[in-house]
Amino acid sequence: MSITLDLKPPARPAKAPDAPINLAGLGRGALRDALVASGLITPDKARMRASQLWRWIHQSGAVGFDGMSDIAKETRAELAQRFVVARPEIVERQVSADGVRKWLIRFAPGIEAETVFIPNVAESRGQGALCVSSQVGCTLNCTFCHTGTQALVRNLTAAEIVAQVQVARDDLGEWPSPREDRRLSNVVFMGMGEPLYNLDAVAEAMDIMSDNEGMGISRRRITVSTSGVAPELKALGERTNAMLAVSLHAANDALRDELVPLNRRYPIAELMAAVKAYPGLSNAKRVTFEYVMLKGVNDSPADAKALVRLISGVPAKINLIPFNPWPGAPYECSEPEVIEAFGSILNRAGYASPVRRPRGRDILAACGQLKSESEKLRASARRTPAV
Ligand code: SAH
Ligand code: SF4
Repeated sequence: MSITLDLKPPARPAKAPDAPINLAGLGRGALRDALVASGLITPDKARMRASQLWRWIHQSGAVGFDGMSDIAKETRAELAQRFVVARPEIVERQVSADGVRKWLIRFAPGIEAETVFIPNVAESRGQGALCVSSQVGCTLNCTFCHTGTQALVRNLTAAEIVAQVQVARDDLGEWPSPREDRRLSNVVFMGMGEPLYNLDAVAEAMDIMSDNEGMGISRRRITVSTSGVAPELKALGERTNAMLAVSLHAANDALRDELVPLNRRYPIAELMAAVKAYPGLSNAKRVTFEYVMLKGVNDSPADAKALVRLISGVPAKINLIPFNPWPGAPYECSEPEVIEAFGSILNRAGYASPVRRPRGRDILAACGQLKSESEKLRASARRTPAV
C-alpha cells in the first residue's frame, strides 16, 4: 500500500473556528465584508465605518477598540465582542551593536518568522528599511543561504506580513503614521522566503501598507527581492508596482545552477528576458541585481566582466553583498580588496555598485542568517533540563 502525502502548504492557513477575526491585517474590502457579515453594520453604513476603523488601525496604530474616540461606546463594545485589533506575540527582540533591531514573531503555534529593521546610519534622521519575511522557511535551497537549509513551514498571510510593519512601528514609536521624515521609510521583502511563491499575500500586504489613508508607505519605497521566479515577474509589476531586486549571484548558468538551484528551471536567459520586460522599468526605476560575494567562486575580474556583458542595456544597479557566514556554510566571504576590484569593474562600465555593509551580524540579523538563531535557541532549550 502506498501513501501519498500532499505537502503543499495551504494557500491560507486555517483559523481556529471560534477565534475572533483580527481586523488589524484585513484589506479595505475584507474589513467592510467582515463588518457586514457580523450583522453589526448594515451594508449602507459599512463603507463609512470601515474607513473610520481603517484610519484608527493604520494611521493611529490602534490596538483594541478603547481609544477609538469617534466611535460610540456601545458600538465599540459590540465590535469588541466579535473582533480584535491585535498584534502577534513577540517571542524575542534583539538590538545589535550597530542599531539593527530584530524581532522573532510568533503568528501561531510553531509559526515564527523574523523581521529586521536596518537603520541607514548615513542618514542623520535615523531612517531605515524594514526587512520583512514572506514565508516561514523556504522551498528553495540556495547553497549560500541559511534560510534555505530550513524547510518551508508555510506561506505568511497578508495580515501576517502587515503585522511585521506594525510591530516595528510600535517598537520605533512611530504612530500616528508620519507623512514625512519617517524612521521606517522603506520596506524590503528580503527576509525569510521567496516572495514570488506567495505573490497574492505579498500584493495584498502592499495594498494595505501603501494606502494613503493608512501607513502610506509609497510603492516606490517597497522592494521585492526574488531568486528569479521568471514567470511571476510580470504579475508582480502589474499588480504591485514594486521596485524589483533580483538575486543573480552568477553570470553563467553552470555556476548559477549550483548557487541558486531554481536556475535549472528558469535559466539566466529566461530570467533576463523577464527582467527586461518588467513593467515600469526605466532609468528612473532601475532593477537591483544582488550579487553575494563568495571567495574564489564568483568574485574574479572575469566574473565581473561577464556580469557587465549580461546586464548590458538593462537600467540597473548592482548590490554587492559580502557573504554572511553561518555555521557549516560551504563558502567564505571574498576579501575586501577583491570586492573593491569587482565593484570598480562594474563602476567603470557605468553601473552603481554599492557594497552592502553587513549589518546586525552579531545578532544573526544579516542577509541569509535569519531564523537560524531561533532554531538554535530552541535546540539548546531542549538540552537544558528544566529546573
Ligand atoms: N528569497 C528572496 C528574498 C530573501 S533573500 C531572494 O532570494 O531574493 C534576501 C537576499 O539575501 C538575497 O539576495 C539572497 O541571495 C541574500 N542572501 C542569502 N543568504 C546570504 C548570505 N549568507 N550572505 C549574504 N547574502 C545572502
Ligand atoms: Fe530562499 Fe532567498 Fe534563501 Fe534562496 S536566498 S533559499 S530563495 S530565502
